[in-house]
Amino acid sequence: MEFKDPICSQILSLSTLKLDSDLEIAGDETHHLAVVAAPIVSSYNDRIRPVLDAVDKLRNLAVMDEGIELPTIVVVGDQSSGKSSVLESLARINLPRGQGICTRVPLVMRLQNHSSPEPEIFLEYSGKVVPTTEDNISEAINMATGEIAGNGKGISKTRLTLTVKKQGVPDLTMVDLPGITRVPVLGQPENIYDQIRDIIMEYIKPEASIILNVLSATVDFPTCESIRMSQSVDKNGERTLAVVTKCDKSPEGLLEKVTSDDVNIGLGYVCVRNRIGDESYEEARTEESALFASHPLLSKIDKSIVGVPVLAQNLMQIQAKSIARNLPDIVKKINDKLNHNLTEFKKLPKTMSSVAEAMTAFMRILGQVKESLQKILIRGEFDEYPDDKKMHCTARLVEMLNNFNDELKNSPQSDRVGNFLMEEIKHLEEAKEISLPNFLPRTAFLAILQEKVNGISNIPTEFVGRVWNYIEEVVISVLMSHVEDYYQLQLSTRRAGLNLIEKMKEQSMKWVMEVVEMEKLTDYTCNPEFLSEWNRLMAEKEAFMKDIDDNSRYQTNLDGFGWIATGNLRPFRHLLDQAFDLRMRMISYWRIVLRRLVDCMALHLQLSVNNLVNKDLEFEIVSELMAPHGNGIERLMEESPSVSTKRVKLTGSVKKLKECKEILATIMDRIGSK
Ligand code: GDP
Ligand code: MG
Repeated sequence: MEFKDPICSQILSLSTLKLDSDLEIAGDETHHLAVVAAPIVSSYNDRIRPVLDAVDKLRNLAVMDEGIELPTIVVVGDQSSGKSSVLESLARINLPRGQGICTRVPLVMRLQNHSSPEPEIFLEYSGKVVPTTEDNISEAINMATGEIAGNGKGISKTRLTLTVKKQGVPDLTMVDLPGITRVPVLGQPENIYDQIRDIIMEYIKPEASIILNVLSATVDFPTCESIRMSQSVDKNGERTLAVVTKCDKSPEGLLEKVTSDDVNIGLGYVCVRNRIGDESYEEARTEESALFASHPLLSKIDKSIVGVPVLAQNLMQIQAKSIARNLPDIVKKINDKLNHNLTEFKKLPKTMSSVAEAMTAFMRILGQVKESLQKILIRGEFDEYPDDKKMHCTARLVEMLNNFNDELKNSPQSDRVGNFLMEEIKHLEEAKEISLPNFLPRTAFLAILQEKVNGISNIPTEFVGRVWNYIEEVVISVLMSHVEDYYQLQLSTRRAGLNLIEKMKEQSMKWVMEVVEMEKLTDYTCNPEFLSEWNRLMAEKEAFMKDIDDNSRYQTNLDGFGWIATGNLRPFRHLLDQAFDLRMRMISYWRIVLRRLVDCMALHLQLSVNNLVNKDLEFEIVSELMAPHGNGIERLMEESPSVSTKRVKLTGSVKKLKECKEILATIMDRIGSK
């Protein structure tokens, strides 16, 4: 590991320095917290303390809520495994202990070695600082727990911080968590196991957490729930340390258990014997060292892994290393987060204090909406929506028009062959009048035309509906994206957009129905293609009639139409000349009708979209805002609840992160100056 950062190399050198002092302690037969007495160690404590204090301050500022992980020693263990007892041993105090679930909220314990013989102990929770004494700690914790999590048996995520400044305690910050329980006891919620597991996971998941797994010597380690949980986040146990409690109760096979390491404890085991009954701290330590010195089985366990003093040592060392390892990252994350939040803050809509400002903002939004819509609906520039195909409107509209064209061409009315000439014959029979026989009755042509136009009339109207629905979606989405930060505008612009499009859709409907009516009323085109196509088709007539007149043929091959049965046509021979002419005229003319529909539709859409984007939308939005119920431009100056919450949150977060940065800067200075 290499750290460029001065603090970290300082701490790292501190922790290696620590390793040397370990040797001294291992040789110290009394096994008392020699750590406190040794000058080299107290210098270590003096130097690590400010760093630890800084980390604790960051914790108190709840930087964890900003997603920044702090190096934390997290105590986990099954219920009654002895977690609280271990903490007591380390802190030299009495904690609530007993059957059932005692620890019901995360308890952050800050232990600080303290030169004065008078201990200083206080609890912090819900913004309060409550001083207490050694004798009253249990009571005070129970009271605070009750206040946080209620007086029943429920648990809570809200932290309680206990600071113990006392002579001889190791400088450590640890979090005690509720013990894992499988079966809810009377009065506990059904999901107590899930609740506890969630809290534990939240604390042990971060890579920066050191897991202190408390295991009772009386149980089989692989069956411990706490082992399963720590393994789920720290597979190889790289950040897990095990404390084995109750060694006095179950000395058989303990040596075997800790040396075989069936459960992957990367940071090693420490076997302890905690305070039993009313023993004082000193008595408990004397008993402990006597136990490990003289017990026939326990005395075989290496002295470097037994006793509370060793545990304290190991924890401090691990803590120092963990802080050293994580500090550069924390500094970086705090800076990143701060920068990110400052940028976010700048992005918030400016608070508007005058009508002039509000007006300016409003005009700017109108301008931006117009520009965006012009780009996607008219000019075909998609830089604002590079990947959102739906917003590439010019292209999508052409596709829609092409589909419209296909739909018309594929309709049954556009079938050239079907029921060949029979329709024409039917109409010719009804168009009989007293006149010369070789005049083609126009009424027959118009009647057929009307039938055909009627047949397809729903296609253009449905198309218009589809197109406007699409335009509506696009326009509303563009509008909303521009007024995102102005919630007073959201409603009124949406209403304006919807109203306008509704109106335009109605106009288009009216227009398209008129176009269809026009096609029904008159047959006209100046397009020369009509005549040329008709002439081309009529050129086939002579051959066709010849086959009809040839009674031996039952079908005839008409160029471009395929085989046509002659039998059913022959009885109408007297009408066939005119029928043939009618059909060919209709085919030539129908192509022109369809093309005219598509062309007109394209031009109409283009005109409507232009009007919409370039003038109507603006007018509609302004009218809506100025309408009696619109409350005018002044309303723009009100900030939306969501923006103001965001503003408050960001302000708080920025302030907090700046404090963190300062805290880190001071320890950097202090360490640098030593
Ligand atoms: P927690 O639920 O994990 O916090 O467990 P506690 O610390 O409350 O301990 C549960 C019980 O085990 C208590 O009655 C303790 O006195 C007892 N205990 C804890 N450690 C030891 C130990 O090392 N030896 C003995 N004999 N009992 C212990
Ligand atoms: Mg407990």
